[in-house]
Parts: sequence; C-alpha cells; structure tokens
Amino acid sequence: MSNVAEIFGSKVFNLPTMQERLPKATYESLLKTINEGTALDSKVADVVANAMKDWAIENGCTHYTHWFQPMTGVTAEKHDAFIQPTEDGTVINEFSGKELVMGEPDASSFPSGGLRATFEARGYTAWDPTSFAFIKDNSLCIPTTFLSYTGEVLDKKTPLLRSMDAISKEAKRVLYCFGKNPAKVISYVGPEQEYFLVDKELWKQRKDLLLTGRTLFGAMPAKGQELEDHYFGQIKERVSSFMKEVDEELWRLGVYNKTKHNEVAPAQHEVAPIFSTTNIAADHNQLTMEVLKKVAGRHGLVCLLHEKPYEGINGSGKHNNWSIGTSEGENLLKPGKDPESNTQFLLFLAAVIKAVDDYAEVLRLAVATAGNDHRLGANEAPPAIVSIYLGEQLEAVVEHLVSGTESTEAKAAAYLETGVESLPVLKKDSTDRNRTSPFAFTGNRFEFRMPGAAQSISGINIVINTIVAEALSQFADQLEGVEDVTSKAMEIVIDTLKKHKRIIFNGNGYSDEWVEEAARRGLPNLKTTVDALPYFVSEKSLSLFEKHGVFTRVETETRTDIMLEDYSKAINIEMLTALEMAKQEILPACLEYTKFMVDDVAKKESIGISVPNEKDQAKKLSELTESLIQKISALDAVAEAVPSGLSAVDTATYYKDNALPAMGDLRTVADTLETIVSKEYWPFPTYTDLLYNI
Ligand code: ADP
Ligand code: MG
Repeated sequence: MSNVAEIFGSKVFNLPTMQERLPKATYESLLKTINEGTALDSKVADVVANAMKDWAIENGCTHYTHWFQPMTGVTAEKHDAFIQPTEDGTVINEFSGKELVMGEPDASSFPSGGLRATFEARGYTAWDPTSFAFIKDNSLCIPTTFLSYTGEVLDKKTPLLRSMDAISKEAKRVLYCFGKNPAKVISYVGPEQEYFLVDKELWKQRKDLLLTGRTLFGAMPAKGQELEDHYFGQIKERVSSFMKEVDEELWRLGVYNKTKHNEVAPAQHEVAPIFSTTNIAADHNQLTMEVLKKVAGRHGLVCLLHEKPYEGINGSGKHNNWSIGTSEGENLLKPGKDPESNTQFLLFLAAVIKAVDDYAEVLRLAVATAGNDHRLGANEAPPAIVSIYLGEQLEAVVEHLVSGTESTEAKAAAYLETGVESLPVLKKDSTDRNRTSPFAFTGNRFEFRMPGAAQSISGINIVINTIVAEALSQFADQLEGVEDVTSKAMEIVIDTLKKHKRIIFNGNGYSDEWVEEAARRGLPNLKTTVDALPYFVSEKSLSLFEKHGVFTRVETETRTDIMLEDYSKAINIEMLTALEMAKQEILPACLEYTKFMVDDVAKKESIGISVPNEKDQAKKLSELTESLIQKISALDAVAEAVPSGLSAVDTATYYKDNALPAMGDLRTVADTLETIVSKEYWPFPTYTDLLYNI
C-alpha cells in the first residue's frame, strides 16, 4: 500500500495542481470563482481548459466527459476524445474553454417528468468549478450541472447548489444581527455508507438480486444476526483486501475516506469519509458508490446498495451527518461549554427544531423510495415518523427554557471511571447514542438516519438546507432592526421551543408506544412512499422551494412524478422477476421433489412398507405446491391488470395495494417450500449461501 499522503488526490485537478499549472492571475481569478461564486471570464476558462487537458493527458487520459447527476440518482457521462483533425490528416489534442464550461448531451433519454414535452429536448451541462475535475478510466471527468434549454433543472446538483446559497443567505442575515459578517455560511455533510457484499458466482444464480438488487424469495438462515458477532468484528481477508483497494481508489480521487467496519448483519459493512461541503460530499458519495461496485467486481464480489437485500436481516442506510458553519470556521451547531447561555447556538438549534417540525413531511418524502420502504419502520431502522433526539444535556436546557425554571449550574464535564489506574481518564460525550432516532443531535451536528443506502444524498440535503433556511429567514425577519438582539433572540428561542417541542423525542423510536404517542402529538406517520410523496406538491412545499429559489413549481411537480414513476417501475420489475422465478425455477423444483417423494411412498406401499409420516410429508408438499400455483396465478392477475393512463400517484398506489401484497403471499408459500424441499432440488442459492460465503 502506498503512502496515503502521497497518493491522496493524485487523480484530481485540485488547488495545488491548479496553482502549479496556471498563470498566477488565472489561478486567482478561478479561486475567486470557486470561493465567492463570481462569474468566470471566458479567457480564464480557455487557459484553465488547456492546463487541465495537459495534466489529464500526462496522466493517461484520452477523453473528457461532463459528469452529471440526472434525476435517475446515478451519474451520467458521455466521453469525447480530445482529438482535433489537422489539415495534414493527423490529429492534435484540443480542449477549449467552451468545451470545459458547457456541454450538450442529448437530454431525451433522461427523466424530465414531462419537462421535455413542454420545453425543448435539448439539455445543457454547465461546469461546477466548486467541485474539482478528476480522472476516471482514462477520462477527464468534469463535474457539471444539467439544465434544459429553457433553464429548468434536470439534475440533482443544481438545486443542491441553490439550497446551499439559500441557507448561506439566511444564516448570514441572522449572524449579521449578532454583529458577525462571514463571507459565506456553508452546509457540511459526512455520509456514512452501508452496503452488503455477496459472492459474484452466487449472485449470478439469483435473478432477483441480478435484476432488482434484493432477494424476492428466501427463507431465514439458521443463523441470523442474533449473536451480534459481526458488528465491528474482525474483517475477513477477502473483504479487507476489497476495502483496501476501495480506500486507495477513493483517496486518489480526493475522497476523504476515513472509517470502515463490519455492520450489524452478516456480510454487511460501512464506509465513511470525513465531512465536506454538501456539494462535494454528494459528488464524492456518488463516486464512492461507483467505486464500491467496480472494485467488488475485481474481487469476485458484488456490492449491494439496496436498502433491504434480505428480508429479516438488517437493511442498509446512509447516515447523513449535517452541520452548518461559517467560511471562517465557526460551527454554528457547537453548543460550547455552557449551551444554556449561548444564545446564538440556541437560535440555530431552534431553527433546526422548527424546520424539522414544520416540514416533517417534506423531510420524510426526501427519503421515500420503493427500496427504503422496506427499511423504515422495520424495527431496525428509524421509524417512518420524523422526530428529533437532543440528548440529556440539551433536553434539560430545553426543559428549563420552556418551563421558565431557574437554570441549574452548567453541568461540569463528566468523566468515565474505569477503575483501572493505568488507563487514561475518559471525558464523556454530552450526547449519548440513540440509534432509534431519525434525526439525532450528536454533539456538533445532526445525524439524519432515514436516507436509504442507494439514494443520492443530494435530495436529502436540498431539503435540509432549504427548510432550515426558511426557519432562519423567519428568525432574521424578527431580529433585523432590533436593538437588544440577545433578548429578542432568547424570546424567539423560547417561543420556538414551546411551539415545536412535540418533535423532540428521546425515547425508543422502535416501540409501539412511540407510534401511539406520536399520533397524540399530531406528528405525521407516512408509512410508504405513496403516502409521503404527494406532500411535495402541497402548497406549503411548493411555496417553500419557490421562495428560496431552489425549485420552481414546475420543477417540484415534475420531480414528484419522476419519484412516483421510479417507485412503480421498481415494483413492476420486482413483480415480473418474482413471477419468472416462481414459474420457471421454484415451481418446477417443487414438482420434481414432490414427484420423488410421492413415487417413493407409492413404491414402498406397493410392497407393503407402511410410511404414514413420509406420506404426510408428501401430502404437505403437494398441498403447498398447489398453493404456490394459486399464488402465482394471483400475481399474474395483478400483472395483467396494471392500469394504464392513470396519474403517477394512482399508478403507484395500484402497485402498493396490489402488487406488493400478492408478491408477499407468493413469497410466504415459496419460502415455506424452501425449508422442506431438498437442497439438491432447490434452484438457487439460499440465504445461508449468500450471507456466509464471502
Ligand atoms: P458514527 O459514530 O455515527 O458511526 P462515524 O465516525 O462513522 O460516526 O461518522 C461520523 C460522520 O460525521 C463522519 O463522516 C464525520 O466526518 C462526520 N462529521 C463529524 N463532524 C461533522 C460536522 N461538524 N458536520 C458534518 N459532519 C460531521
Ligand atoms: Mg452514525
């Protein structure tokens, strides 16, 4: 393994490389664009493009591509060679400022939610200089946004950048009232990525994993995760060598990969970087998912990013650690030694609490996908009910402020007693862990635990940035022009906490009592994607995104349709895959094994051997196989009756109400059969094979 400091960022056109290769004036002009968002001069772009090209070619590149994030949630790229023909029939390498700044991929094959029907089919990509260009597969990749001919956004990056501007603007207004004037307020994210690994040869034999990313059949293995021996356990050699290669590739790409460990379920793991700005974190998380998949292949493995590859086994999420800070380095969510008298901190804390309570539905729908529906509320992941966990210390502060009681002395830092003199004294964190909370304060940031492992983190952070921007905007409206800012701010804090206290919940989010309690508190419990998504186009949501210039109304509406269509498409593919597997693989296997048993019974009885128990078993097999055929027919009927011409939400509702239950019924019978049919006859690898063979 190479020295990390030496290889880090070696495939990135980052600041040191720019400084080394660009004329001073060009470098400074570009730096100003990156830091302050000033428009880029076309002459500067030409010089940058040329330097980028030379650097890329020296590093083995033949092509360049605008790398963007259409609304599919994965990245897209179209590669063009640098070559330019000359008169003498040879070629030279060329890359102009124009080619760097703008591209025109055909937009017609990307989802637009109907935007293209109304507008032009053309799409444009535009360079995002705040995210560095990098090299992948001998191509220079330039992070870009993706827009339609008339300026409607067709991607996930543009609204994310807009939301970052919105929160910066509103947070600065608030800070200005406190006598501060930072250049920018930046939202940061450190996303923890969970994933499963599975042996590639076994994976190939499972049509469901191959086509849908999750198992549609499979009885529980004899050993699940009850021994809790996998979490943080020793990493197996094959996995470890895979992880090392992932680290190295990502470090070369400038991703701050920091942590890796085994997760709760067998064959489940996690990787996490050091946090960066939401924009870069989103780009890097896309790269991380891509590298995980690619490197897995080289090790004879497949990386599953689906939220619930295995029923009855923990699913995979993506913990979104979010905070805001000034460009000068002040973390606005840092409580300090005495949070109770830290008015500015309390105000920002109150803004997050208010934002999450006011827009719980929007936050919920940002994590709504067909895959994540299997995970949320499944007694292992956060419930579908959004609530905030503050931890003991802040909970006490909130209590004092709301009830108006005297504040107790600021709690002295607590220490852990190990009882062993030679061990260092450990300072206790002021917040404990509450893994059941969807939105937990963890000392200087909030950890949003609902996002699914396969999701782009852009959508989630667009929502968090925008809802917090809105709360801050309302606070700034009240603070501006006020003489005694501190008392006014405290008044706002207390008022906000009183109004929004209901969203705070420090107990067990998995419990049934919480579901009842949340209902009493009037908190929404949007169980599925279909329940949640319509809130995106509620007046409250439309006007929120419009006010902060994040989405136009049309953009919000089209995005809702795209998400609903994604949901329907995912379930449709699952339904057809389940049918195919049941008809072509499971049923024939069951018929064959039943025949074997029935023949055996008949033979034995014909020579007078009495086998009542074996006969019962054969009978049970026959009955279950009959039932299997019946469930196949029922699902077939659902597939044949898929309505056409309905709205996106009605179509999605059809799949939720008809396809999912029928698939569940079919699975139940098939899984029971799996437990009694001979392994030799069973047509594909079982859960034990998949989970314990890496
Ligand atoms: P956990 O203990 O929750 O598993 P990890 O150490 O795996 O935590 O990940 C925590 C993540 O939070 C890391 O990506 C880390 O960089 C990120 N993080 C730390 N401080 C901040 C902050 N101020 N803002 C945003 N993210 C942060
Ligand atoms: Mg975490």
